[in-house]
Amino acid sequence: MTLAQAPTATPQPHVVRRLGVRARRDAVTRLLAGSALWLSLLLVTWWWVTGGGIGDLGGWASGLESVGRITGLASAVLLLAQVVLMARVPVLERAFGQDELARIHRLVGFTSFNLMLAHIVTITWGYAGGSLTSMPRTLWDLVVNYPGMLLATAATVCLVMVVVTSIKAARRRLRYESWHLMHLYAYLGVGLAIPHQLWTGADFTSSTGRQVFWWSAWIAAAGSVLVWRVGLPVWRNLRHDLRVAAIVPEGDGTVSVHVTGRALDRLPVEAGQFFTWRFGGRPGRSRANPYSLSAAPDGRSLRITVQDVGDGSAAVAGLVVGSRAWIEGPYGRLSPRARSRRKLLMIGAGVGITPLRALAEALEYAPGEALVLYRSSSAPLFVDELAELTRQRGLVVWGLAGRRRGPDSWLGHGVDAPTDLAALTSWVPDVVERDVYVCGPRPWTELVLRDLRAAGVPEHHIHLENFGW
Ligand SMILES: Cc1cc2nc3c(=O)[nH]c(=O)nc-3n(C[C@H](O)[C@H](O)[C@H](O)COP(=O)(O)OP(=O)(O)OC[C@H]3O[C@@H](n4cnc5c(N)ncnc54)[C@H](O)[C@@H]3O)c2cc1C
Repeated sequence: MTLAQAPTATPQPHVVRRLGVRARRDAVTRLLAGSALWLSLLLVTWWWVTGGGIGDLGGWASGLESVGRITGLASAVLLLAQVVLMARVPVLERAFGQDELARIHRLVGFTSFNLMLAHIVTITWGYAGGSLTSMPRTLWDLVVNYPGMLLATAATVCLVMVVVTSIKAARRRLRYESWHLMHLYAYLGVGLAIPHQLWTGADFTSSTGRQVFWWSAWIAAAGSVLVWRVGLPVWRNLRHDLRVAAIVPEGDGTVSVHVTGRALDRLPVEAGQFFTWRFGGRPGRSRANPYSLSAAPDGRSLRITVQDVGDGSAAVAGLVVGSRAWIEGPYGRLSPRARSRRKLLMIGAGVGITPLRALAEALEYAPGEALVLYRSSSAPLFVDELAELTRQRGLVVWGLAGRRRGPDSWLGHGVDAPTDLAALTSWVPDVVERDVYVCGPRPWTELVLRDLRAAGVPEHHIHLENFGW
């Protein structure tokens, strides 16, 4: 491990003043988004109460129906929230970041699904007069004779498929593309569920207030998908017309791809963010893979650095100069906008150094204020570029080479400290005063997070991107 000699200097006053403004704005967005969801849940609960929901709990069959109504309403709110959460709405992407959005998406998704199952069971049981044995006949009657219920059944099948394939054990067995394709059935599921809500659910239509609420929510969800998942990427790709300009081998099965395009200075992207990429002129061009920028965007070109780990990434080395590139994004919060502290710590492993390399170029810091801990079990990337940043900007880079010293350690052999936490706090005694950017494979970042938390780094100073599941 080597420590580049860090000169000392006073930080630029304008850097210090601006810090945290965007981070605070994002915190407000998170608060507003969370409040909107809770208020929506509160509102439908209020309508259920004023519609006699609590009174109905007094009887067995009416109680079951009443539970069926409130679980259906809450499930519908959460399903629509799901759609908005994954519609790549820029303001939410910036405020939460993909990892946090995916975590919330999983939580909200499983909750809405469980509520939907509870809704189906209790409402059928209630309609069956509270008799378990009459349930199958009642279910058949509901599906066949009630308006919109055949569509709702198809919706349930779609959502069951999405949830089953998202359970971790099943998820690991599927190729990413297969899982992703199946996941798109969730949109169909949400769409097919709407008619039965309108045609049989009095709770959705019995007052102007209810109608305004539900129609606004449906339009907002569908509009978000159309505008941000479909419209914006199409428009961006037409506007920027991206082309592969160069493929540069970086060694050890890793290549950098330089991409140019029209009006790239108008592409709102920051160092540390990622796009999902599709490339023309190769097999499997319809498949998209996420790759972070490995250099700070300069308004004329973009650079990604890709490690060969499977079919999609291996094909990148064979790209032809001039091939078309299509992007979705930019996404991710591992960027200057998350920053709120003057001092910086960046911790990366393997190809996870890519966004940190771009951040080290783009972030403002005085010499000695930014430290990179870079773990690599094979030849490290960007050695010359990091050395140049050390020379020009006083970036401090420590390599953490070698095989991991154990499955419970994020450090390599050769570290003397008894624990990873002891190593971290002795190397970076002021770690709690720093913004910490972390990137690497999930099992490794989880160990880093464990020690950052144990060292007392506040959650909102930790900015994370996981490169794998
Ligand atoms: C936000 C983010 C940024 C990344 N940035 C970089 C980078 O800068 N450089 C780099 O070399 N790698 C990066 N990766 C990892 C890279 O996306 C995968 O290595 C690549 O997609 C593997 O695809 P494959 O077809 O070669 O291999 P596969 O065998 O298909 O997949 C290998 C692994 O990658 C995962 N993966 C595949 N496609 C996707 C996808 N579309 N979204 C999420 N995970 C996927 C799979 O679940 C699997 O765990 C990043 C990953 C994420 C999530």
